[in-house]
Amino acid sequence: MKIRLTILLCSLIFLKVNAQNSNDLIIKDIDILTMKSSDILNNKSILIQNGKIVKIDDFKKLSINKNAKIIQGKGKYIMPGLSEMHSHLPIESKVDTLLIENVAAGVTHLRIMNTKTPQLPLKERLKNSQNTISPKLHYSHIIRRDIKYTEIQFDSLMTEIKKNEINFIKLFSVASEEVFDNLMKSANKNNVIVCGHYPGGIKMEKVLKSGFKSIEHLAGYEQITDEVELSKTIELTKKSGVFNCPTLDWDIMAKDLQYPDEYKNRLVYSNAPKKYLDKWEIEYNKGMEKEGIDKVLLSKEKYLPTFAYKQKILKKLSENNCLLLLGSDAGNSFQMNGFNMYEEMYNWSKAGIDNLTILKSATITPAIFFNEDKIWGTIEIGKSADLIILEKNPLEDIRNIRTVEMTIIDGKIYLKKELLSKL
Ligand SMILES: [Zn+2]
Repeated sequence: MKIRLTILLCSLIFLKVNAQNSNDLIIKDIDILTMKSSDILNNKSILIQNGKIVKIDDFKKLSINKNAKIIQGKGKYIMPGLSEMHSHLPIESKVDTLLIENVAAGVTHLRIMNTKTPQLPLKERLKNSQNTISPKLHYSHIIRRDIKYTEIQFDSLMTEIKKNEINFIKLFSVASEEVFDNLMKSANKNNVIVCGHYPGGIKMEKVLKSGFKSIEHLAGYEQITDEVELSKTIELTKKSGVFNCPTLDWDIMAKDLQYPDEYKNRLVYSNAPKKYLDKWEIEYNKGMEKEGIDKVLLSKEKYLPTFAYKQKILKKLSENNCLLLLGSDAGNSFQMNGFNMYEEMYNWSKAGIDNLTILKSATITPAIFFNEDKIWGTIEIGKSADLIILEKNPLEDIRNIRTVEMTIIDGKIYLKKELLSKL
């Protein structure tokens, strides 16, 4: 009897705690871009409990907790949050701003590709603070030319990486082909993702067959001038399941392709706070003064064919159904963290990539990259509620991605306007 009473009491307490903690969220009557296909689920409602999507149905068919928060979605669109797949962390004091900028733009997952801030202490800090506004971070261990490990030394590194729950290795540069071989043997054996810069001096075919998971900036491909050779390489890319993260906006801004005046049409202009635009304008004018307009125009002229070739490579990769990751590599003037994803999407669109592929490359394909596509990346029952709500449909016109008005991470709501006002 005493035991039964205890069980009853325990379950009553449990029920009460559960009801009090109820953070049910309903997004009502919205058009859903699931990212499973191009189909849109019209006028459906999504029930979110404890940060997960638990039901997608007509509003009247949902069982609604009286404490549930309801967001009216009529006439709006919802899709999975964006994954920024090529981001660099600034110095410690500026990291929180970068995180807010990303969430404001609709970024719910972020792959750290380089950093001025040690990642492990950051990881620890974010774990212990519930209030930091941040996308979900995918941490990296960065390998540079000075690392000359044997396979056994790499094995110890892999153990360390797994112990610290670091998500992948980013190769910045490699000492030699032998070191690359040691790294890939060890990583494959230990199931650790290696990606990053194309390891210069090593044959493309070897890199593609090595288990190297994503190549940044289309390096390696751009050097191939022979059409047949390029086709073969792309075929092998597809066969080997290697991802590509082209970062076209890096080329555009680092090589001055939108200067002296086109940059004013950039999508960041409608989102960046005025103080950012003013700062960039000063940087731009200083740069122009230093270089001189003639020199800028000449180097731009010289680089344009390379850029056009990169656009062509991207189009070919897409036509051959290769895996693509959208990353914006922000860092120059007129590139705003998070919001630069919009810019990169538009760059892809101008290169001839269809809108569904672009959006998938920023949602489900990144989840596949991390082997986490069962957890996030689409709008489906059981998935994390990492979502964005938009005023207009980005499948119709990719520039509609600018109309993100709300970001939801694990069911927690952030309004773009509010976050922008914090900057
Ligand atoms: Zn980069």
